[in-house]
Amino acid sequence: MSLPVYVQSYSGYKANERPRQFVLDDESYDIAAVLDLWYEPSATYFKVQSTKRKAYLLRYDEPAEEWTLQSAFDGGELLARPGIELVTIGPATALKAEQQIESCEHCHPYDAEIPFDWILAEITCKRGRYDFVLTELARCPNCRQPVNEKTLVEPK
Ligand SMILES: [Zn+2]
Repeated sequence: MSLPVYVQSYSGYKANERPRQFVLDDESYDIAAVLDLWYEPSATYFKVQSTKRKAYLLRYDEPAEEWTLQSAFDGGELLARPGIELVTIGPATALKAEQQIESCEHCHPYDAEIPFDWILAEITCKRGRYDFVLTELARCPNCRQPVNEKTLVEPK
């Protein structure tokens, strides 16, 4: 799950290089540090730590110039909305789901067509008004790149 957020960022040689604050529901969250950053063919992801020591995952879709807050890490508590139940996926379930992955959008961009959370829905038998939060990022068994809830994968 994700929601669009307004992000203030520092721009270096590249626009929107480093987020420093995001706003959701009129509340602003100051970013103390970027803990991790990775590129997927569809977007750039920033794992950030707020000044209140919470970890959030922000996704930046460069062509659309759109920022979204993802439900990973502590984002789930901000994204909780009536009617949607958040399901936390621990390492054992994540591993089971990982084993269903043949390849991902990093290694096989043309074959990876379904978001990883579809597999999570299969495995937990929770389809419909559920949203999944991984406690740890999964990894593609083929290329070992990180996989989050929305990474596109090809199932076995
Ligand atoms: Zn892969």
